[in-house]
Amino acid sequence: MELDWEQIKTAPSYFCAIEAFRVFKELGDIVIELTNYLQEQGYKAEAHHPFGGKLLFPYHAVAANIGIIGQLGLLVTPEFGPRQRIGIITIDADIPLNRKKRDFSEIEEFCNNCGACIKFCKAALEEPVEKIKGSGVISRIDRSECIERLIDDNYCSICLKICSLGHPK
Ligand code: SF4
Ligand code: SF4
Repeated sequence: MELDWEQIKTAPSYFCAIEAFRVFKELGDIVIELTNYLQEQGYKAEAHHPFGGKLLFPYHAVAANIGIIGQLGLLVTPEFGPRQRIGIITIDADIPLNRKKRDFSEIEEFCNNCGACIKFCKAALEEPVEKIKGSGVISRIDRSECIERLIDDNYCSICLKICSLGHPK
């Protein structure tokens, strides 16, 4: 679900914080409602709320052909750059995997040559780190430092504002 640009462009601000939680709530409600529906149809289904959970959302989104991992470690899509939240439902249904692979080369090239989020994020690490050893899951964000910025600086979100891939087209 997209985070509204008119709010995000004011980051860091109360408007931005409110928008972040609006999307957590609205998307979370949809994920739960849809999961309940699937369960009523007889599937084993589990909701993974966008506010947290046991899955690494960006990497599942990449596997689902939604976007790429940007330099900071966030999901970046052609539609909204990093300016979105993801919810996931896991299910025991047979889901066809024959979707055509999308071409992300344009945003990949742009991102590789950009680095703006690394420059402006106060929680950016010098070097990328593997989140879980041996997993290949890479991030440049010091999670504790980022949470401090979220709490102390009106939900920060500079990374969402600065990325020109997420600016209105
Ligand atoms: S700000 Fe630049 S480096 Fe960061 S995710 Fe966006 S395009 Fe990539
Ligand atoms: S919210 Fe702020 S501190 Fe956290 S990753 Fe984005 S720019 Fe960095």
